[in-house]
This record gives sequence, structure tokens and C-alpha cells, in this order.
Amino acid sequence: MILYNKNVSFDFLDYGIQIPLYYDDWISHIQEKFPLKHREFPLINREDLERVHSKDYLDILLGQNPEIIIETTHEFTKYYDKSLQTKPFSHLIQKTLLEASGTYEASLMALQKGFCFYLGGGMHHSYKEEAHGFCVIHDVVIALQKLIALQKIKTAWIIDTDVHKGDGTAYLTFKDENILTLSIHMEKGWPLDSYPLDHKCWTPSTVDIPIPQYEENSYLNKLQEGLQKLQKISTQKGFRRPDIVMIVLGADPYEKDTLLSSQLLNLSFEQMCQRHQILLSFLKNIPQAYVLGGGYGPHSHEIFTEFAISSTPYW
Ligand SMILES: [Zn+2]
Repeated sequence: MILYNKNVSFDFLDYGIQIPLYYDDWISHIQEKFPLKHREFPLINREDLERVHSKDYLDILLGQNPEIIIETTHEFTKYYDKSLQTKPFSHLIQKTLLEASGTYEASLMALQKGFCFYLGGGMHHSYKEEAHGFCVIHDVVIALQKLIALQKIKTAWIIDTDVHKGDGTAYLTFKDENILTLSIHMEKGWPLDSYPLDHKCWTPSTVDIPIPQYEENSYLNKLQEGLQKLQKISTQKGFRRPDIVMIVLGADPYEKDTLLSSQLLNLSFEQMCQRHQILLSFLKNIPQAYVLGGGYGPHSHEIFTEFAISSTPYW
């Protein structure tokens, strides 16, 4: 099923941040194919956040002056123009908490029904003690740690096919024996090229699949091999299949994506379709929750709509 909440929106421009995330009318394109039903869900709380993020960071995030986060996060300051801001940054934090709550809800639905595609989430760059990329908190790890704390699951995989490395995911789950991660991403470009080798963004995932520029044709084979490698490692650790798999889908490997930092990988629409078939086929019979991840410009809805259509037999 598709999980949709009309209050989960991505209008960064209201906060003066000029990111072309998804684009305004992307949801209407999906709605043309699927009548979306608004669904409410309970908000995650501070305890849920504290399983993943540091207290000092949460004090700033949830305190009186979360603007500090804008001022100290490079990717936000780069795209920020105060003169365009019409709403306080604290509103964005509240929206982010709602969005992350949806990711947890999606994970519950996956456990109950086997499959959920959530139209939100995938803030895979966030670290324990700071925002990174355009990601303020790490919704996927928050959801999984909550499931583990409530003893709903013991083991999980996080599979990340966004064009940018899932560096926050790797950082937050490094050495975790029960959460294994796979990231397939641009070999060069942000974030890897922007930091020295000892930076957090270089923390290895369980399986990393860096794709060199102009080797798009190897992408699908490497994804398939990487999934098999993940399963092998998982089996060695005592669980051939996890209790749940969460997938950061990402529309930004698509050749029509407009973000400057996603231009080193340009998969065709056909290749994106095949990516979805590989994921759906390999993960068959494992409870699975998909979140959006990145997607920039007026064409990202094509990828999400395609995924919604091609995944329907698995709902
Ligand atoms: Zn991305």
C-alpha cells in the first residue's frame, strides 16, 4: 500500500532554502494514477529521537533557536536566502518530525501487511550530532531503533539506491550487528568528494557499491551482486533474511534529475524501471518499507509513479 499524509510536504522555499526537491505538483502526478487517501499517524517523541541523536543536538533542534542548525550546516547555508523566508525554521522542524513519524508508521505497515511505499522520508545523510545534506534527523534509523526497542523486530537491512551515499545511515549503524546496510551511489561527487577521508561520510556501509561516472551500464549488475553479498554477510551473522528491510529509493540517479550534485550518474528511465524490478524481486517475502529519499526537479515524480505502478502486485 501507499502511505500518504497531506501535511507531509517539502516546500523548503517557505524557509528560504532553494532546493528543487520533487517540485510542487509532484504529488498530483501520482494522484492521477492512484487516488491517495490521507492518513494520520502519531508523532514520534523525544525518547524515539534520543535512541539515535545526541542530547545536545536535540536540545538545539527542539529548543528556541533551531535556526542555529541552518547557520551551521553547509548545505543549508549554501541554498539559504533569508529574504525569501516566510515561515520560521521551527515549523520546518515540526514538519520534519511529522515526516519521520510517517517512516515509523510505514515500517509498522510493512510488518503488518508485508509492503508499504511511503510518500516521504529517507533523510539518510543526518548524523548523530548534526544535520547533514538536507537531512535534519535520520528517520529510517529512528524507526528501526524504535521497532527494536519495542521488541517488534530484532534484525533489519537498510538498502539505499539514492544517488548520494547513505553516509548518515552507515555512520549511525556502524558495527551494529543487527542492522546491515547497502548503499549504491556515485563513486565521486557529494558527499564523498567534499570531505577528507577521515570524515564521517566515509564510514563504510556493510556493502558499498560506488559507481564510477560513465559506467551506468554496470549499475544493475552491481546492484544485483551487492544484494547477494548483503545476503551472504547477513547469513554469516545468523539471519539469512531480516525481520524488515527499509529502502531509501531515491529518484536522483535518473538522467532527468536537475540537482547539480547528482549529475555523475544518469540512469535512463528504463534502467530505473529495472532497478525497481531487481529490488522487488530480490526482497520478495521480506516485510519491506520504501521511503522517497532524494529526487530533484520536475521529472522526479516519473520515477516515484513508476515505482508505485510496478510495485502494486507486491502490496
Ligand atoms: Zn540524493
